[in-house]
Amino acid sequence: MPSEPIAPAPLLAARGLHKSFGDNHVLRGVDLDVAPGTVHALIGPSGSGKTTVLRSLNGLETPDAGTLRIGDLELDFSRPLGRRERAALHRASAMVFQQHHLFPHLTVLGNVTVGPIRVQGRGKEEARADALALLERVGLREKADAYPSSLSGGQQQRVGIVRALALQPSMLLFDEPTSSLDPELVGEVLAVMTELAAEGWTMAVVTHELGFAREVADEVSFFDEGVVVERGAPEQVFGDPQHERTKRFLQRLQ
Ligand code: ADP
Repeated sequence: MPSEPIAPAPLLAARGLHKSFGDNHVLRGVDLDVAPGTVHALIGPSGSGKTTVLRSLNGLETPDAGTLRIGDLELDFSRPLGRRERAALHRASAMVFQQHHLFPHLTVLGNVTVGPIRVQGRGKEEARADALALLERVGLREKADAYPSSLSGGQQQRVGIVRALALQPSMLLFDEPTSSLDPELVGEVLAVMTELAAEGWTMAVVTHELGFAREVADEVSFFDEGVVVERGAPEQVFGDPQHERTKRFLQRLQ
C-alpha cells in the first residue's frame, strides 16, 4: 500500500495566543508552526504583534491564553506557569535582540560564556572551548579578548548571535537583528543568519528585511492587528498575496 508522505512534526506549535497590555489587546489568537530545520519569517506593519509573539516563545512575555509546544515542552497559558516550566521555556529557545545587549565590562569571550557557565552550570573550560569555536565560525576568534565597545555594530551583533548559539537551544529567535545597524553593516549579519539556516538551525525571525525573508525563509507569516492574516511559502506570500492587507503592505514598500 503506498504510504502517504508524512510532514515532520513542527518543532514549535503555538495555538490561539492572546495577550493584552492593559486595554491594548495586541495578540488576538495567533497560531504559528515552525518545522524542524526551517526558517519562519514574521513580517507585517509595526505594532502588529510580531515581537510580542517572539518574546512569548522565550518566556519574556506571557500570553493570557493559548498553548505552546516546543519539542517536548507543552505549555497552557490559561493557567499560571510554574517555575520549572518557565525555566524550560527559556532554555528551549535563545533570542537575538534588536540591540545586542552585550555586557560592556565583559570581553567578547566573557559575554558568550556567562550564560552557559553562570546560568546553565557548564564547566568553564568546556564553555570557553565551545565559545571560541563558535567565534571562529563567525570570523571573530581574534576578538575573543576585546571589549564590545571596540567592535563595530555588525561585529557586536555577530557576538549576540554567538551568545545565543552558546546556550545550545533547540531553536533561535531573532527580533529585527539588523534594524539598529548602519546599512553597510546589515549584510554581514544577514550572511551569518543565512549560514545558520543552511546548517539546519530552526529559526523564527521578525524582520523588515523582506529580501532576506524572500530568499532565506521557508515560510512567512504576515501579521496585522494581532493576527496572522496570511501564511505560506515566500514565493506565494510575496509573489501572489491573497489578502488585501498583505497586498497593501507589500505595495507600500515597493
Ligand atoms: P511589532 O513587533 O509587530 O512592531 P509589538 O509586538 O512590538 O509589534 O507591539 C504590539 C503592540 O503591543 C504595540 O501597540 C505595542 O505598543 C504594545 N506593547 C508591546 N510590548 C509592550 C509592553 N511591554 N507594554 C505595553 N505595551 C506593549
